[in-house]
Amino acid sequence: MIEISGFYYDGKSSRRLKVRVTFCPSGAVSIRGDNIDLQTDIDQIRISPRVADTCRSLYLPDGGKLETGDNDAIDTVAEHFQQNRLQAWLHRLEQNWRFVAVALLATLLFIYVSIEYGVPWAAKIAARSVPTEMRRQLGEQALESLDGQVFTPSRLDAQTRQHLTHLFRTLTAGLATQQNYRLEFRSSRKLGANALAFPGGIIVITDALVHLADDDQQLTAVLAHEIGHVVHQHNLRRVFQNSITALLMITLFGDISSITSLSATLPTILVQSRYSRQFESEADRYALDYLESADIPVEQFAIILTRLEQQRGDGSEFDYLSSHPAISKRIAVIRSH
Ligand SMILES: [Zn+2]
Repeated sequence: MIEISGFYYDGKSSRRLKVRVTFCPSGAVSIRGDNIDLQTDIDQIRISPRVADTCRSLYLPDGGKLETGDNDAIDTVAEHFQQNRLQAWLHRLEQNWRFVAVALLATLLFIYVSIEYGVPWAAKIAARSVPTEMRRQLGEQALESLDGQVFTPSRLDAQTRQHLTHLFRTLTAGLATQQNYRLEFRSSRKLGANALAFPGGIIVITDALVHLADDDQQLTAVLAHEIGHVVHQHNLRRVFQNSITALLMITLFGDISSITSLSATLPTILVQSRYSRQFESEADRYALDYLESADIPVEQFAIILTRLEQQRGDGSEFDYLSSHPAISKRIAVIRSH
């Protein structure tokens, strides 16, 4: 038997009566006070859900109402008679720090799995579904827009170009034909010694990079790395990964207007640079495999990368390195190969 004290309102006047309410195990409920003696049954009573520790209301069948601050006793009653089970459960969850911790962990795990596997997987599928012709057009357009901004015509002589084009053909021979591999020569004060891969298979090499390399082996290493970017469709995957990540961050951290706020952009940037590093090591792995199959010492790759790192000090604002992060780490990985 549970007894609580509270106030009774008859639902017709604003009169408030102090009462004692008794709940019997059978379900019988009696409400007693001065000038009042009511009998009813628990099934006839509706109990309001618990909201923190605010006063609870118990609604009686005749329009009357009981009010009490004894929440724990009401919870016991509700639980015993199986009333408000859902609300009681939710309240218990809110109170339970273990559940809160588990929920937090589950959310973090969800974010981790999405970013580590979900987003890259979805982007890969999306990139694969882009038709060859569209990929080619995207590449041409990207090259065209850079031609107007950062590239100037190459000054390499015809013989060097011919030689490098031949080298490039050897590198791309036997690769899948959905990509139209094509080597382009450009000069660029902004980019310095650099090589870039475009969707569809266009690869640009700058005059400065050709001059920086000692020999064909070093150029082969750099070109193989760029071909690795094309083979793995990194350009398109990056576009898809960035947009999917942005959507995910908006979903997790707030509405679309908050995309400009740091809370959404900072994690996005961190995730994107992580993806960018993954792409670089994937392209490096491709280059290393090629060098091994062609009997070229991988040290040549390390040498040209080291030189590219050194030229960073020259103050060019956008060089090979900003698009190829963590270069010293990569060199270490290549040397350990
Ligand atoms: Zn790269």
